[in-house]
Amino acid sequence: MKDNMTSKKIKVAYLDGARNLVLSTKDKPEIKEDEVLIKVKSVGICGSDVLYYRTGGTKRRPITKPFILGHEVSGIVEKKGKKVENLDVGDRVAVEPGITCGRCIYCKSGRYNLCRSVKFLATPPVDGAFVEYISHKADLVYRLPDCISFDEGALIEPSSVAFYAVIKSDFKPSMSSLILGAGPIGLLILQIAKISGSFPVCVLDVDSYRLSLAKKLGADFTLNTNDKDIVQALANSDCDNEYDVVFECTGVETVISNSVFLAKKGGTITMVGIFDGVTPLRTKEIIDREINVKGTYRSANVFKDVIKLVERKMLNVKSIITHTFNLDEIEKAFEVADKRLENCVKIIIRVS
Ligand SMILES: [Zn+2]
Ligand SMILES: [Zn+2]
Repeated sequence: MKDNMTSKKIKVAYLDGARNLVLSTKDKPEIKEDEVLIKVKSVGICGSDVLYYRTGGTKRRPITKPFILGHEVSGIVEKKGKKVENLDVGDRVAVEPGITCGRCIYCKSGRYNLCRSVKFLATPPVDGAFVEYISHKADLVYRLPDCISFDEGALIEPSSVAFYAVIKSDFKPSMSSLILGAGPIGLLILQIAKISGSFPVCVLDVDSYRLSLAKKLGADFTLNTNDKDIVQALANSDCDNEYDVVFECTGVETVISNSVFLAKKGGTITMVGIFDGVTPLRTKEIIDREINVKGTYRSANVFKDVIKLVERKMLNVKSIITHTFNLDEIEKAFEVADKRLENCVKIIIRVS
């Protein structure tokens, strides 16, 4: 009897205050009839996880109890509710982390990423996936082909964010694109822009390792702006000065503000990186140059498309993984992510 009870406890990592991750145990979750129980395999560390780790909770989203981070998830279906038809026990899966209401105008119109009632993994107060088992709505769980590893499966989520940003930009083949920031999302957008027929694709960053990765992944030009003014840096380089689409992936205030000068007249700036404050918006230039400024939030309806691109080896998600750690090493993993040590780009935690 006692054995039975202890075997129900599962391993978990809690964030308990800024920069304090604690390994503990909790009860295995129960499932509802439209849910599956997933044995969590690989979970990526996202920029938002690092932000919560650094701050212990933000003003907009405070954390009031020990909290589980992690929303880039792959795993194996271990149990399914009696209404679940799309999955079987034993399936290898990727998880779409936002559970939406299905009834509001955004959900009904297919823009469920904007649902006000969304419960998104690892967004306070909703716990995430640095834990051995999670329960999740089966409709939001996607079977992975055998050729996609669990580590790659965890990156279907950030790849979906990148894919969504590209399709929201009304991209047409042969359009030029400029990617500001060669972090995980920038490097994924780069690949999807190339698949979509963009030429030339130029990537800017201040990190030469990340730029070398961008080059390997097909960037036509890369430029290290060395913390200088990006407009000047581009003007003094061999790269084009203006682009059809600019993807702002840095979330850096001055870069956001100057991005308006880097789009062609009538071009588009797609805002992906988050600056959590008020940015001066150059409305005069936006008007004079008829610039379209677009916001793109998380993703909707693209998980299956992304899985197809990874399966066909068109999208190389493995290329951005620089580090893997076990759950027991999660403190070390977050330290590397937080301080950007050892040229890290994407870090994966192998939960089990
Ligand atoms: Zn994320
Ligand atoms: Zn909704």
